[in-house]
Amino acid sequence: MIDPNGIMMIEPTGQAASEPLVDDLTRKMAAAYRRSTLPADGRRYRGWHTCVCGAKSDNTDHFIDGKKTNSLCVHYLAFHRKDVPPSELAKVQRMSEGAEPNEEELQRPGGRGSPTVLWGNRRGG
Ligand SMILES: [Zn+2]
Repeated sequence: MIDPNGIMMIEPTGQAASEPLVDDLTRKMAAAYRRSTLPADGRRYRGWHTCVCGAKSDNTDHFIDGKKTNSLCVHYLAFHRKDVPPSELAKVQRMSEGAEPNEEELQRPGGRGSPTVLWGNRRGG
């Protein structure tokens, strides 16, 4: 569901990138997601939200400083950057900390037991 008051509550429609884009924005989102909290009432959904690329969210809302987000927030930035509206990028840009996103946070497209980390932790040179 699309929610302009949340963070990264969007629904990408285009194809996922073949490789994750991990830059300052993705790292900021990862750091923020790690300190996100779950709903106080423990509410869970019956199902999962599935991204256009097949990646699945978990079944609960997450809150970052009171703003709703979901477990695909890092995935959207890493794999669907071109579908992320500038207004959402601006929210992430304002965050200060950064953290290297892990495999679980990135959610490789497909969500079907993709081969484990062939591309992780490698950095140029
Ligand atoms: Zn996706």
